[in-house]
Amino acid sequence: MASSSSSAAAAAASVACSSPPSSILIIGSGVFGLSTALALARRDAFAHCSITVVDRSDPSQPGAFPSPDAASIDASRIVRADYADKAYAALCNEAQAEWRRQASPADLGARGRYNETGLILVGDAEPPAPAADQADQEADLKPKLTGLDYARKSWANVQSLAAKDPELAARIRELPNPDAIRDALGTGGSSGAWGYVNYNSGWANAAASMSWYLDRVRETGRVALVAGTVVSLEHTGDAVTGAKLADGRVLSADLVIVAAGAWTGALVDLAGQAIATGQVLAYVDLTEEEHEELANMPVILNVSTGLFVMPPVNRTLKIAKHFLGYINPVQPAHPPLPLTPRSPPPTTPTPPPPPVSLPRTSLTDPTLSIPPSAAADLRRALREMVPWPALRDRPFAKTRLCWYSDTPTADFIIDHHPNWRGLFVATGDSGHAFKFLPVIGDKIVDRILREGPAEFEGKWDWKAKTEALPTRFTQDGSRGVSEAGLVLSDVLEKEEGEEEEA
Ligand SMILES: Cc1cc2nc3c(=O)[nH]c(=O)nc-3n(C[C@H](O)[C@H](O)[C@H](O)COP(=O)(O)OP(=O)(O)OC[C@H]3O[C@@H](n4cnc5c(N)ncnc54)[C@H](O)[C@@H]3O)c2cc1C
Repeated sequence: MASSSSSAAAAAASVACSSPPSSILIIGSGVFGLSTALALARRDAFAHCSITVVDRSDPSQPGAFPSPDAASIDASRIVRADYADKAYAALCNEAQAEWRRQASPADLGARGRYNETGLILVGDAEPPAPAADQADQEADLKPKLTGLDYARKSWANVQSLAAKDPELAARIRELPNPDAIRDALGTGGSSGAWGYVNYNSGWANAAASMSWYLDRVRETGRVALVAGTVVSLEHTGDAVTGAKLADGRVLSADLVIVAAGAWTGALVDLAGQAIATGQVLAYVDLTEEEHEELANMPVILNVSTGLFVMPPVNRTLKIAKHFLGYINPVQPAHPPLPLTPRSPPPTTPTPPPPPVSLPRTSLTDPTLSIPPSAAADLRRALREMVPWPALRDRPFAKTRLCWYSDTPTADFIIDHHPNWRGLFVATGDSGHAFKFLPVIGDKIVDRILREGPAEFEGKWDWKAKTEALPTRFTQDGSRGVSEAGLVLSDVLEKEEGEEEEA
């Protein structure tokens, strides 16, 4: 494993990232971190490399990998090749070959870890075009694709993926109007003006799948799992040499992979390439009979509103919203690693780093709840998509804020850092990486070795090579129309004040 010492001074001397390195430290054990650990452990090229994964833990569950508030932990995640972008559609197709392995209970997709109940993807009718001067003002804020554009492009991509296989093709059907959408959904509800159903898509039980992956990682006997919170990266000259933990331990390694999801900006200056955004979820308890009735429903996702309902897991129905989200700008406790090494060290005091949006979760703030306006959106989605009188006003059993690391194009950032040797970043999940769990680790290792994948060259690159990019919000067309830059604390304060007055 990466060597550990009690002080920063004991960190390893400056090392280049030799090829392959002799020790690798992965910060974060979510989809990106854990899948990378497994891929490294199975690759011959890394047979003599020590691999360590470190993750912050819930103090009540020390040693949980990943942490329970990680984006990778939840009851369910959609697994869909239904993308407007061909490369991600094809990557999901590759991942689904693994998800569909269910012959033995030990297979990834078995025991309810993967369920192919279909996906209904819909968009609302296009709003009329705005007047010319208003159109100019709105141009910067508009997603490049509307929800309906996204749905139509995705429809074309899944049809083309299924073109060579009549069995797959027979499982995709256009839903040209709200009645057709209602028929396919089977709950009595409907959403959107146009869409399609793809029975080649489905959903994964996220927590169970991560647990399956953790077991595979442990089985290799090659990966040291360390519970601890990294507070800063260790460096000498222009080389990153390890990580310092909150308890003072230092983990040293030839190559440090930061896969800290929406927390990445606390450790590395991402120069405006990615921002943590909070997304909202609500869960409704069901009776056994209600569960049975909904158990095989397809997922329904309206890409114009971002609202979606997932089939139930353990008698709980999940409603969520995929949108521009909330930001939580805070002053990081420790300055993140700067974009470039400072040489020589500054003689004048450096100004405090600018605020960074970082996750605020119920693990660190047990009183946290979602804003009332978000709860109202989720309630509206429930009433529209599953319009059962018994569920109409049933209280949410639980709500959650879950955090994306969002990039402007929704492309991941999987690349060597341009200015620091020994540092690789795997983040920018943009709220859609879970489905790639069975394949993304191998792609990350390919990127470490600079061996592709060709279709993601450019897309997954570190984008701020020469100058800091301004932060912009995700514009891939899959996000529900929403306001950019809503500050979570402001929204909570305003809406909770309004509730008290009412
Ligand atoms: C509400 C919601 C719905 C989603 N729906 C879908 C979907 O339907 N389909 C889909 O494919 N994807 C979906 N996603 C996205 C998917 O879950 C994420 O893309 C994926 O889980 C991200 O994995 P990650 O490894 O980047 O981050 P995470 O899973 O967040 O893992 C990061 C890990 O790093 C650790 N860490 C952070 N900082 C430190 C530190 N300083 N020291 C030590 N450890 C640290 C954290 O504790 C965490 O365990 C959804 C995400 C959310 C939030």
